[in-house]
Amino acid sequence: MSKLNQFLLGLWIVSLSVLIFVILTMDNGHEIQVVEGHMNNESEQVADGKEDSDEIASQPSMVEQEPEQEHEPETVPEPEPEPVPVVTKETVRLAMMGDVLLHYRLAQYKDFTSSFAAVGSLMQSYDYLVANQESLPVGNKYALSGYPQFSSPPHILRDLQQAGVDMVTVANNHTVDKGEGGIRTLFENLDAQQMPYVGAYKNQEDKNTKRIIELGSIKIGMLAYTYGTNGLYLPKGSPFIVNYIDETTMKSDIEAIRSEVDVLVVSMHWGSEYAYEENDYQRTYAKMLNEAGVDIVFGTHPHVLQPYKKWISESQHETHVFYSLGNYFSTILTVPNTMIGGIASMEITKEGNVITINNPTMDATSVLLDADGVYRVYPLKDVEARSVKNLEWVKQVVGSEVSVY
Ligand SMILES: [Zn+2]
Repeated sequence: MSKLNQFLLGLWIVSLSVLIFVILTMDNGHEIQVVEGHMNNESEQVADGKEDSDEIASQPSMVEQEPEQEHEPETVPEPEPEPVPVVTKETVRLAMMGDVLLHYRLAQYKDFTSSFAAVGSLMQSYDYLVANQESLPVGNKYALSGYPQFSSPPHILRDLQQAGVDMVTVANNHTVDKGEGGIRTLFENLDAQQMPYVGAYKNQEDKNTKRIIELGSIKIGMLAYTYGTNGLYLPKGSPFIVNYIDETTMKSDIEAIRSEVDVLVVSMHWGSEYAYEENDYQRTYAKMLNEAGVDIVFGTHPHVLQPYKKWISESQHETHVFYSLGNYFSTILTVPNTMIGGIASMEITKEGNVITINNPTMDATSVLLDADGVYRVYPLKDVEARSVKNLEWVKQVVGSEVSVY
């Protein structure tokens, strides 16, 4: 064989080998395609739901795993975070102002809006404000009158409420000034104005209805008592009730409400008129109220301011006592300093279930006769130059433990 022939033979052998390899490789590829097609068909059948349940069960690897994988994020619960105890903290300011005692010149006012205009923002600044409505607002049934047996126009309730008063105390020495009919009219007018009241009641059921003020989650109980009613009494058999200061009655009332409230407040109409110091009667009942578990005592009746004292019982219970708030709106023109009064308030904080009562405050006020002939109540700090006394004098009377403004 020539070298050329040898080369051609070699080339032919190589070409044949390559051809055989290609044919074999093409067969394998076809085989793979068939396998894939079979798997796809089965998947489609399952997805269409055309196979019966036995057949699905016989193909567990294909049927059950796929849906499980799809739903896994939903069915596996995420680990719950450890609950963090939430301690809520709430702070409110509860306030009371002194006597609203309308002498005849004030009783004739057709509207009291102007008289309270200068103290409007102060009166609105508390979370709850109580006033002692000393003169009976019964002028729609009884002729208007001043001292000694008062009959005031009912719109005093409307204008006090408009100015910021949330509740009135009606246990004082003028509550029976107009007899049983006067008290009936009092309640009609309070109801007509939707003014909450405490200290005198329509009947036993009304008295049994506890006065509980809810400020957020803070529950404040209110009670009110008077030393007397100027020698006037309701007739025997009258359904109406006036709360008189009496140790047995008060202890029973306190016991009934104490466990239902966070803070217990008592309004006391007591003390010597025009005296700047509390007397033994006031101290005796302050001690009794302290030992009975009362938290705050607001006193009225002396017509002038008296000191604040904190009583602490043997069991370490604290009672904040404002012995007298003075007059808020009245014109006892013949006695000095009866035009100076104030709004006393305490800051109540509830953190979790712990109650703290702090920061005794007195916002001093002054009643002045303006040039237009109208008597108006002012924050004393705004009118010191025109008033008979200044803030410094108020501080001396109420004591250094009180923030005076
Ligand atoms: Zn009084």
